[in-house]
This record gives sequence, structure tokens and C-alpha cells, in this order.
Amino acid sequence: MEYNYRHQATQHLLYSMANLGQVRKHGPRIIVRGHDCYVWDIDGKRYIDGFAGLQLTNVGHGRKEIADAVTRQMGEIEYWHLFAGFCNLPAVKLSSKLADLAPGNLQVTHFVNSGSEAADSAFKIARQYQRKRGFAQKYKIIYRNRAYHGMTMGATSAAGDKAFRAYHEPLVPGFIRIPNNHCYRCHFGLSYPMCDLQCARVLETTILEEGPETVAAFIADPVQGSTGGYIPPVPEYIPMVREICRKYNVLYIDDEVITGFGRTGKMFGIEHWQQAPDIMIVAKGLSSGYLPVGAVIMTSEIADTLQDEAFLHGMTYGGHPACAAAALANLEIVERESLPARAARMQGYVMERLRSMLDYSIVGEVRGIGMMYALEIVRDKSSKESFAQASARIVEIAAEKGLILRVGSMGGSVLMCPPLIMTEELADEMLDIVSETISEVSRELGML
Ligand code: PLP
Repeated sequence: MEYNYRHQATQHLLYSMANLGQVRKHGPRIIVRGHDCYVWDIDGKRYIDGFAGLQLTNVGHGRKEIADAVTRQMGEIEYWHLFAGFCNLPAVKLSSKLADLAPGNLQVTHFVNSGSEAADSAFKIARQYQRKRGFAQKYKIIYRNRAYHGMTMGATSAAGDKAFRAYHEPLVPGFIRIPNNHCYRCHFGLSYPMCDLQCARVLETTILEEGPETVAAFIADPVQGSTGGYIPPVPEYIPMVREICRKYNVLYIDDEVITGFGRTGKMFGIEHWQQAPDIMIVAKGLSSGYLPVGAVIMTSEIADTLQDEAFLHGMTYGGHPACAAAALANLEIVERESLPARAARMQGYVMERLRSMLDYSIVGEVRGIGMMYALEIVRDKSSKESFAQASARIVEIAAEKGLILRVGSMGGSVLMCPPLIMTEELADEMLDIVSETISEVSRELGML
């Protein structure tokens, strides 16, 4: 077969989060190679990967030891499953490793293939657990405005952006949305700390309104992810929502799909607030994307309750030995190179430079923790009106300059989420491009 990649890439691929007109106009960017914090496209153009693929290549591209671990495992046995009492060695080792790393009493892992599958599995596990404990009516799942937990039907039902839900209704019943915790755009029109954390208290009022006997679980990511635009919470928020869940026997599902494995400067984001959930979902940084693997990590009590009869849930590829081997090799690098501590060190350095970008009239807020950073792009600092056109241009021009960034899915923010191995020198280069680009876009839009 003859390949004309550029043409075929507009004929035979259905892209996510892009329309075909855009893909055709700019041409698909066909990435063919990667090393450390760089990737190269089919024309040989080099980019700084400022978004770690899709917020996941934490150990950087091209780590041979992960490829070698996968090859070795494929040489032993390429596939074996975790159904009907069978298992495989890498899955056992990885589940033990996760039990070791995870906070609190999270001791048992159910493997899946992605963050979305992990979210859906967590919802099913929460409902099943509550039902098996005799709380037959506890089925509702509370999620937050602007949340993103994935694209499967359950995860879509917990999507905080209505654009993600609109075409797919009716969604799964029993999903209840509450405001999120973004101080810059406070839902209650209040200011911290005078607000007395209404964004956390609304969880309690919602549980009471719905009836505590009907609520199974609350799902939140410790730093709200790409749809929200990387929102680190104020110090009281996570402890408060955690406590509210405990009070009403509502399971706390902690989505660490982006924040897990060092991204925020701790192994897991929730550890910043000395909390532990009942259920944690992970994916992305678990394998740094070298192979697809996701997981639901839960307390032994939840797992034991589910397993007093056959647990009727699972995926053919859940716990795939090659994927588990990739994850194990990846975690070895994360620990050996102390990547969580590295991310914590980078935070101060990068945030200081980002704060200087507040001088641009279109930068309304800068946020960040560890190595995830967001610039809130606004048309006007006093009205805080989102300026999606400017965010999109910043990402477009940065790519022309050789830096890959992303627009937060709701358009208002520009996100940076580089590999955790990025040096200060390269971070400087990245931030120079960001600054130049904002300046250019401001001029282009008459905002300078
Ligand atoms: N949860 C969060 C916080 C995410 O950011 C994502 C993906 O970006 C998901 C869940 C879904 O993960 P996946 O794309 O692997 O299905």
C-alpha cells in the first residue's frame, strides 16, 4: 500500500477535541519520534513537549529501560488475564507496588486500561459496595462543575462541561453536579477566606438535599484538571470535603489520573492535604503513557465486600502483563530520580516567572502546583471574561515556535504540563516562548 500520510491522516482518522476543518487547515501534526522533553514531527521539526503528550509522559520520551522491560515480558508471556482466579506476575507486582505507594488503607487494585475506564469502574464499585452493605438506595454520584473524569458513558455523566454531555443525553441517571472551587471565578461571588469555603460546604448541603441515604460517592481530582484549567484548592478545601464524605458515609473517589505519580510535587496530589480517599483512580503517569494502563485502588474493606461473591466486572486487557511491566519500569524511574521532589522544586521557579506574565493585560490569573501550570486568558481583567480566541492563538503560535501547549477544554486557559524531568534551563526556554507568544498575540489582537 502507498502511503501519503498527510492526506490519509485527514481521510481515515477521527480526531478527538479538534474539528476536521482545523485539522485540514493546519495539516495534521504527525509526530514520529521523541526523546526526553522533545518530540519531532514528520518534517523533522522539533518541539518542546510542554504538555507531556496528554499530561502523562512524566519520565520523558524514549526511555529505553521501559521498552526493554516490555520486550522482556513479551518474551516470557505476551498476555494473560485476571479473570476467574488467574493472574500474571507483573500485575501482582504492580498491585503490591501501588499498595505500598498509595496513601491510607488503599491496598487492593483493580486494573483497567485508561482513566475513563477507571472512573466508570469506580462508580460501579461505589454503587455495588454501598448496596452490598445494605444501603440499597445509595446510588448517586456527586461531581463538580468543570470536572473531567473521562469520556466513557459514566465518566461523561460526571463531565462538568455541558459541551461534553450535550450530544449524549440521556446520560447515566443519578449524577449530581455541584459548583467547583475556583476562587478566581467563585460561583458564590465571594472571596477567600471570608467565603467560609462555601464551595466545600455546598457538598454537605447537596448531600442533605438529595438525602444522605441516596448518595454513594463524591468524585474530585485534588487539582481540578484540564477542563477546569488546573485549579489548586485553598488549604481547607480537600480536608473539608473529605470530612463531609466521612460524615455521611459517602465514598470519596480521588481522581489522580493527572495528579498521580509526582505531577503535583508529591507522589499523589491528595497527600498535600494529608488526606486519604476510599477509592483512588490512576492512569496516565502510572506508565507515563508507554503502554495503556489504568487502575482503581481501594481499601481492603471495599474489595473484601465486593469479593464475597464473584465480582462481575472487568476488562480483557485489565492487568495486561506488558502494560504492568511498563508501569513497573516507569515507577522505578519515578522513584529513582525522585521526580515528585523534582516537581516540587520546579514549582517555585516556574511560578515566579509565570507571575511576571500577569503584566500582560490578557493574563488574568496564573496558577500552578508542582509541574502543572495554567494561565487564565481574559479579554478584560476586571470583567474576567474568558478570551478563548486568544488562548487558541497562543497555543497555535507557540506550536509554530516549537512548543506544544494546550488550551484548557473550556477555552479560557492555556496549560503547561511538561515532563517531570524538564530542567530549569529548558523550562526557561519554554517560558521565554510563552512570554514572546503572549506578547505577539496581544499585539495581534490589539491588546498591548
Ligand atoms: N480523569 C482526569 C482528571 C483526566 O484528566 C482524564 C484524561 O485526561 C481522565 C480522567 C480520563 O483518562 P483517559 O483519557 O485515560 O480515559
